[in-house]
Amino acid sequence: MALGEFSLIERYFLRPAPGNTLGVGDDAARVELPAATALVICKDLLIEGRHFFSDVAPQTLGHKALAVNLSDLAAMGAEPLGCLLGLGLPEPEERWLESFAQGFHALCDETQCPLLGGDTVRHEQGVLISVTAFGTLPLGHPGLRRSAARAGDDLWVSGWLGAADTALGLLRGELPADDALLAQVRGALERPTPRLSLGRALLDLAHAAIDISDGLAQDLGHVLKASDCGAVIDLASLPAHPALSKLPAARVLRAMLNGGDVYELCFTADPSKRLAIAALAGQLMVPLTRIGQIKSDPGLFARQDNGQQIPLAAQGFDHFAG
Ligand code: ADP
Ligand code: MG
Repeated sequence: MALGEFSLIERYFLRPAPGNTLGVGDDAARVELPAATALVICKDLLIEGRHFFSDVAPQTLGHKALAVNLSDLAAMGAEPLGCLLGLGLPEPEERWLESFAQGFHALCDETQCPLLGGDTVRHEQGVLISVTAFGTLPLGHPGLRRSAARAGDDLWVSGWLGAADTALGLLRGELPADDALLAQVRGALERPTPRLSLGRALLDLAHAAIDISDGLAQDLGHVLKASDCGAVIDLASLPAHPALSKLPAARVLRAMLNGGDVYELCFTADPSKRLAIAALAGQLMVPLTRIGQIKSDPGLFARQDNGQQIPLAAQGFDHFAG
């Protein structure tokens, strides 16, 4: 390859590490942990063709590769400490790397999550990206675990729903071409904002939390299973992204309940916290919407406008198809 492994790393991934941190360049990184904290660790793997389109702009890919990990830290209530980047590349192209690194480093800077190391290998079968992110939680705080929901809790979601799924539908040609709509929803799919400030603030307010990567119904299902309880979602309360108003209602509902790649937080909190959570929404300028309630009986149900409750079964949402 024209660009050697080491010059590639030096040019695109070596950045000054903050404070006493030893980052890229030695055999391993060294980080001093803030006093009285516990370490929180997560990893995501992104494969070309499966998790991203081959022609996606590399800058947005760099952003997203880190964003999906920071979203996991956010869902624990953790503060970012640093990250590692594993990269498999068919052929190192300078323009691609330059742009990818730009997107990655920009989010590192924005979230104070420095790139501390990684590994770079040739991988003929396509681009493969594996990011590991590290964060901290106050020592003794268990974090926003999936298993911590309680019957009677309110169910909340941050941001808007349905945009990323709509962008995917448009890009795959499953929805009729609509460039104006694509322009409005594309950012949600390609440049998700990890809800880090929200997650940290929720340490004092929420019980359970999860970030929505596979779809609200499915991810909430993980919380319900881990917490051994059920939930009712008020369909009318779901915060549809404003750009979706011209799509059929059933399509929007399906996007909100089943659409993945959302990277908003779904969390549960005692009803006594409603005012504090509303104030937090104003403070962070992030919509926080109460969408239902946790129940002691198992199962996930949707409450319709007429008050009728229907089960949201695992096999899906054909009730809403068409
Ligand atoms: P070793 O062979 O000892 O594992 P490498 O030559 O793979 O070391 O890496 C040299 C340095 O560059 C290490 O500090 C490593 O963490 C860093 N590095 C390698 N690839 C990446 C990458 N994609 N992003 C960030 N740092 C990287
Ligand atoms: Mg190595």
